[in-house]
Amino acid sequence: MNFDLPADMAALKEATADFATRRLTEEAEAFERSGEFAYDLIRAMGETGLFGAPFPEDLGGSAAGFLAVSVIAEEVSRIAPAYGYAMNMQCATCPYTIYNWGSPAQVERFVPGLIAGESIGMFALSEAGGGSDPAGAMRTTARREGDHYVLNGSKMWITFSHAADVGVLFARTDPKAEPAHRGISAFIVEPKRFEGYTAQPIDLPGLSKSLRSCEIFLDDFKVPVENRLGDEGEGFKIAMNALEYGRLTVSARLTGIAQAALDASVAYANERFVGGGPIARHQLVQERIADATVAVEAARLMAYRIGWTMDQGRVSTRVASRAKYFATQAARLAGDVAREVFGGNALAAEYPVQRLNAYIDMLTVGEGSENVQRILIGEDALGIKDATRHTMRNRFVGAG
Ligand SMILES: Cc1cc2nc3c(=O)[nH]c(=O)nc-3n(C[C@H](O)[C@H](O)[C@H](O)COP(=O)(O)OP(=O)(O)OC[C@H]3O[C@@H](n4cnc5c(N)ncnc54)[C@H](O)[C@@H]3O)c2cc1C
Repeated sequence: MNFDLPADMAALKEATADFATRRLTEEAEAFERSGEFAYDLIRAMGETGLFGAPFPEDLGGSAAGFLAVSVIAEEVSRIAPAYGYAMNMQCATCPYTIYNWGSPAQVERFVPGLIAGESIGMFALSEAGGGSDPAGAMRTTARREGDHYVLNGSKMWITFSHAADVGVLFARTDPKAEPAHRGISAFIVEPKRFEGYTAQPIDLPGLSKSLRSCEIFLDDFKVPVENRLGDEGEGFKIAMNALEYGRLTVSARLTGIAQAALDASVAYANERFVGGGPIARHQLVQERIADATVAVEAARLMAYRIGWTMDQGRVSTRVASRAKYFATQAARLAGDVAREVFGGNALAAEYPVQRLNAYIDMLTVGEGSENVQRILIGEDALGIKDATRHTMRNRFVGAG
């Protein structure tokens, strides 16, 4: 057992931090001001290889693996939290789901553009009726008509859906199926190629105005039959499998954001003089910093462990849910500590505290809320539902 990051991963971490500092700070601010989608920066991330780690070289990837995904997602999110979204849409959820479940033709057609940042991806599962119960809440239907499906309905919260070229979207092909999740199928959708698709941005204070989440509406929207992902009725299994990869990035993203909150708190506590000295000298402040420091370190180890587990060819709800849940707790703690340490300045736009907490809140619900994780973890721990009972798919073949 070796807890040190391998040298190549440590170098990757440094290179990612360097890239994010150079490209995803000032330039990103310009996109925030204009509200335009940051195509250039997503493309730059792709060109630098930030999305390619779990994909083979013949698709444009680096086959560096999922520990690399954890490290990259952590560093990108530490420096530019909004760009952490791209680690899902351009790497671990949209393209990896196509890679994991797609036919060779689908993989060849869609994956290289997504991981190069040339086409924009999305992952559309949630609906307004309740993201915590996607099977029960799903009202979107897909009706087969000859060589294509016709989709009708809406999806809620879908990140990058206003810019997406390609998406993995879930719809009900058999409304009468019992249990309901057996009637769901997965599709690779192409919003810019077919009519009947609109995306309405949702106003989310504190989150990016450029890299947004939207409600999408499907009105007789066409999907060619060759774009169905997997078999009819296999969609729910594909979605649940995809969420494990999402939990990997979200754990790492929360760890990075928590580290940013902690770093900001440490710097501020040393700089802020009240009553003749820095507030860092107060043991009550030190206690809060100590608690957050330990929590962030543990969250990082758990996030890296998911990546390592996936690099062994395994996908585990047990490992991923625990890590995602703990990262949420650690990030909430670090965010609260920052609120306390910054005092009134926690509320001021020129300090990062509100923005970091907005992303912590967002990632707390993404890929399953805290309660959803508690249910998965608790039922597993109590022997009610074994969290390792599903055979999950992982087509990662490893370096070389
Ligand atoms: C900014 C943002 C971006 C997002 N991006 C995407 C995306 O790209 N693609 C996508 O598909 N989804 C996306 N989501 C959706 C996200 O996955 C859902 O918000 C999440 O699954 C929770 O669903 P909900 O918001 O409908 O909450 P609900 O399901 O309504 O839950 C509300 C509360 O009730 C609790 N609850 C629900 N059921 C139970 C239960 N059985 N027991 C105990 N408590 C329960 C939950 O824990 C939660 O606290 C995004 C969300 C946000 C906010």
